[in-house]
Amino acid sequence: MMDRLTFKSRKRALKRIKRRSLSELAASWVQDDLLYSGRGRALFMILPTMGCSWALSESGGCNMCSYISDSFLEPVKSTEITEIFDEIMSRHEFDDRMAVKIFTSGSFLNPEEFPEDARTHILERLSRIDAVEEIIFESRPEYIEENVLRECCELVPDKIIEVSIGLETCDEKTRLLKINKGFTGSEFERGIGIISGLKDEFMLKSKAYILVKPVMVSEKRAIDEAISTAVYAEKTGVDRVSFCPSTVHRGTIMEDLWRRGSYRPPWIWSLVEIINRTRETVSIPSIMDTSGFGTSRGPYNCRKCNRDLKKLIIKSNLEQEMVPPYECECRERWSAELKFSELTGSTDIRYEDYS
Ligand code: SF4
Ligand SMILES: [Zn+2]
Repeated sequence: MMDRLTFKSRKRALKRIKRRSLSELAASWVQDDLLYSGRGRALFMILPTMGCSWALSESGGCNMCSYISDSFLEPVKSTEITEIFDEIMSRHEFDDRMAVKIFTSGSFLNPEEFPEDARTHILERLSRIDAVEEIIFESRPEYIEENVLRECCELVPDKIIEVSIGLETCDEKTRLLKINKGFTGSEFERGIGIISGLKDEFMLKSKAYILVKPVMVSEKRAIDEAISTAVYAEKTGVDRVSFCPSTVHRGTIMEDLWRRGSYRPPWIWSLVEIINRTRETVSIPSIMDTSGFGTSRGPYNCRKCNRDLKKLIIKSNLEQEMVPPYECECRERWSAELKFSELTGSTDIRYEDYS
């Protein structure tokens, strides 16, 4: 059911997108980040590919994700990717200790999305830069194979490679039926098992992305599910977790529901609760992504506290400390909504309609 709906909404969205050139789709920026060795900087780069195979399949992909709209939609040659990569590299300095985060809007380890030659070129070039301590890329678990990871690690023997996997949630029903993720917990565990099995030989690590508040999940349940997922990830052998609070992407089922008032992105109070309770229960590093905070499509509280809480969460990410106590009058409204959220689902309560 969800796959048919997602496929329909994806088809509609793809018809509407304005095609862009490869260089228009590429992007890069540097920002402070938390490395395994402590505070440092990260170079983020988006390298264009044909797009995520899962999103391009008849499943329609995950129903909160619109990365496919930022993809080229046709195969991209390895030389085209490496040219863009080299151009990005030439524009940045590598002095401090740094991580390089490669985003391909899909799976770096799927050769149909990202040609093997390009992968090799990138890893070889990064292996020659001393300041680069970590190389991070994303993959769905089905593309994680021992021989492929071994090849990657052998190209950068002195650096950490981290494979990030969008687990989203440990709740099988939410992942498969509500998000339309298309892989089971045991497939995720198989991928993590392969990574763990290579740790004696290489500096290989794994990260799980946790989606906070998928569609059809109440505010209260979203908090509990996110924390349980971090606990599960740690038990499974994941090295760090990154919470991704939902932001409403264009052309998705999440957007359809949000437009009808049937979905509200999470409260920032919920995110403070998640990160603080996770820090109490889980010992691996955990990060709360703050993109989209305070915007109409992202997580929000009220105008008075959105910005302050964003700053406190960024600080908490860098120091791995609790978010300190903070007061704002909107907190009471959040508590009330939390109490009744099982009844309202993830409905957006428009208070102005009742005043
Ligand atoms: S979340 Fe990841 S796996 Fe899902 S459709 Fe988007 S890019 Fe593909
Ligand atoms: Zn407030």
